[in-house]
Amino acid sequence: MKIAVLKEAVGENRVSATPETAKKFAALGAQVAVEKGAGEAASISDSDYEAAGAMVADRNSTLAGADIILGVRGPDPASINGAKPGAWIVASLAPFAERARIDAYAAGGFEALAMEFMPRITRAQSMDILSSQSNLAGYKAAVLAASEYGRAFPMMMTAAGTVSAARAFVMGVGVAGLQAIATARRLGAQVSATDVRSATKEQIQSLGAKPIFVENVEGIEGEGTGGYATEMSEEYQRAQAELVSSHIAKQDIVITTALIPGRPAPRLISDAQLATMRRGSVIVDLAAEAGGNVEGAVAGETVIRHGVKIIGASNIAATLAADASALFSRNLYNFLSAFWDKERGGPVLDEEIGDAIRLTRDGKVVNARLLG
Ligand code: NAD
Repeated sequence: MKIAVLKEAVGENRVSATPETAKKFAALGAQVAVEKGAGEAASISDSDYEAAGAMVADRNSTLAGADIILGVRGPDPASINGAKPGAWIVASLAPFAERARIDAYAAGGFEALAMEFMPRITRAQSMDILSSQSNLAGYKAAVLAASEYGRAFPMMMTAAGTVSAARAFVMGVGVAGLQAIATARRLGAQVSATDVRSATKEQIQSLGAKPIFVENVEGIEGEGTGGYATEMSEEYQRAQAELVSSHIAKQDIVITTALIPGRPAPRLISDAQLATMRRGSVIVDLAAEAGGNVEGAVAGETVIRHGVKIIGASNIAATLAADASALFSRNLYNFLSAFWDKERGGPVLDEEIGDAIRLTRDGKVVNARLLG
């Protein structure tokens, strides 16, 4: 079983295997080939991989005869010739946004496995790339906000007078939101947070933050399907907008993380609401790539509207490339090793996980979510 670890396209600093996971794959009996320079942007040198027992080579030799191709993002279909027919591509494949690419994997005879489609079940927690990367993104969002804010986060009593604590509001309390709350609290801000899932209220309180919830209209009880939110009723959206309007004018920092799988991100802050915020306030929109929670947010850019800085996050986990790669790589190793069949010398998937993440097989797109 040969596993190929590709160097990512320009702009992606993470890598899909570390020396640690390369060594573990080798211990399972796999041969690991790493494309030259694959780990460079994540502070891992070629010699680190070699010391872990991997072969380091150019792209063609890395791919030659590979049974499994690992990536952080889906590789360009034109760039992966030479792998075995039916080779697996295991990566974060953005199946909805990159549909043409998925079709090309099918046409190329690859079996593409989208790690972001991993079901949210207990045994797959250690394989969940969305959680591992969102956690880092939530942390970095709070740090970015603090660094861009022209004032301090903690209250400080000095001989020259008092600096008041920043007020931070986190919208969307999933994995990223929880870490954003925890980090903003550690930095000394006064934190409040909101979500549509009422189960998050207690989690917000347990982190020492104040829950701000729509009380008169039902939200989503419990965790919903697989822990994900769905789109809310118009009545709920109106009540939420009113609540946000009255709260947001008093906030200095807002971090938005609200996502609905397979749909554009819900719009949570309008331009009119932005206009009520104090000049110099900072917003980090972690949903910018999915269309944005904040009106006017642009992924990968910082824009200023009504004196408020809006940071449109883009692949923010990759700015912590070393940690993000370590966690991502372990997710991939935990996944493949959990299904490792000693006799076959490679992984054999079961239906529950295999059918959830498999996008293509035998020249066709086979995933139910893509076939509608
Ligand atoms: P996500 O990234 O899909 O969304 C982020 C948050 O935005 C969610 O909390 C969601 O409820 C919220 N949101 C959506 N629409 C909103 C709106 N209009 N207003 C305010 N908030 C809105 O979510 P996530 O971070 O992936 O996690 C969601 C849940 O799934 C969490 O409870 C998490 O613990 C759970 N989870 C379970 C597993 C597992 O069991 N394997 C793995 C990961 C996450």
